[in-house]
Amino acid sequence: MQIHLPETSAQKLIKALKRAGSREIGGILMGEYLSPQVYQIVELTIQKQPGTLASFLRLPRSVLRPLQRFFQRTGNQFTRFNYLGEWHSHPLYSIEPSSVDCNSMWEVVSDPDVGANFAVLLVVKLNEIEQLEGGVTIFLPNRQLFKGELI
Ligand SMILES: [Zn+2]
Repeated sequence: MQIHLPETSAQKLIKALKRAGSREIGGILMGEYLSPQVYQIVELTIQKQPGTLASFLRLPRSVLRPLQRFFQRTGNQFTRFNYLGEWHSHPLYSIEPSSVDCNSMWEVVSDPDVGANFAVLLVVKLNEIEQLEGGVTIFLPNRQLFKGELI
């Protein structure tokens, strides 16, 4: 699966990562279906409460309003524009998802309220020269996962 991150969203992430320093930050990803196995990140939220050095906990309430606004703006075309997944930073670690990350993503895809049949996790960090590094993993129900390609 290919996940396209447009330049504007990448710049938004870089700015937020610089501001957060060594604290983990994150939010949700809203995406557009482009073609089979190809999605584009259209919007991302940045949760106001940052995490600690090694964890980021998404507050469930923080996603409802941005999602509703996104659905409104995109005309409720749920098959084209929908929740895509989650993102957070690993300022001090590699961009590989941790086992805690994997478990919480499997919880998301198994949650009937979310209603997603897959969810993307984007983990990002700034490298030594403050360029954005990122990796995407796609989570499926029944504890399956596979690597995606971030473009
Ligand atoms: Zn993590």
